[in-house]
Amino acid sequence: MHKTIGILGGMSPESTVAYYEYITRTYTARFGDYAYPQILIYSVSFQAYVDWPKEDRWDLVAEGLIQAARSLELAGADVILIATNTMHIVFDEVASNVGVPMLSLLDAVGDAIEARGMDTVGLLGTAFTMEKTFYHRALADRGIRVLVPQPGDRKRVNDVIYDELVAGTIRDTSRQDFLAIVKGLAERGAEGVILGCTEIPLLVSEEDSELPLFDTTTIHAEAALGYAIGV
Ligand code: GLU
Repeated sequence: MHKTIGILGGMSPESTVAYYEYITRTYTARFGDYAYPQILIYSVSFQAYVDWPKEDRWDLVAEGLIQAARSLELAGADVILIATNTMHIVFDEVASNVGVPMLSLLDAVGDAIEARGMDTVGLLGTAFTMEKTFYHRALADRGIRVLVPQPGDRKRVNDVIYDELVAGTIRDTSRQDFLAIVKGLAERGAEGVILGCTEIPLLVSEEDSELPLFDTTTIHAEAALGYAIGV
């Protein structure tokens, strides 16, 4: 019997759906039947999780996610994921307040970069993800250096995430801007770029890009699938 996966989602719904689709479709493509793991999704009311970080109220973010994670645990989740990069700022606090294991997106992404043997990567994500130190520290522990775009480009990436992608709006102009930003990171020495926001893979994919891209949604969902089915 597979383990039951609990997803802390709704941040945003667009990427939560991508996790759900990835796990179920990949299982069926790989094994030819529909015996994928059970999945519980706790979809938060996203607005609070947009507002609290802006007010620097990470204590409220952590409290909310701990409550949601406990609900998943009570409902029968054997393993829990936070289906967003940004909210990994409070990962340790949430993980230490639930009784089941949590799978960190940062660990899965670190493993994926190590497997490619890269030591310098670019990072695109929300302003919190690019400007706080949690990502840089997690990867520095593995000897991986992280480059972020220049301030104007960081603002553009953050605005596209919150004004377009979380609402499911995909614009070609935004795609072109993201690809130009990836190119800039390549010129500064990045060997690959982390799509460090779970909605960015909806906008850009590796075929369009100068550099290998780390799709954090797929990497994290794959880690969950592997854990749940025991491979
Ligand atoms: N899904 C996004 C991420 O991976 C941003 C939304 C949010 O959690 O604020 O960081």
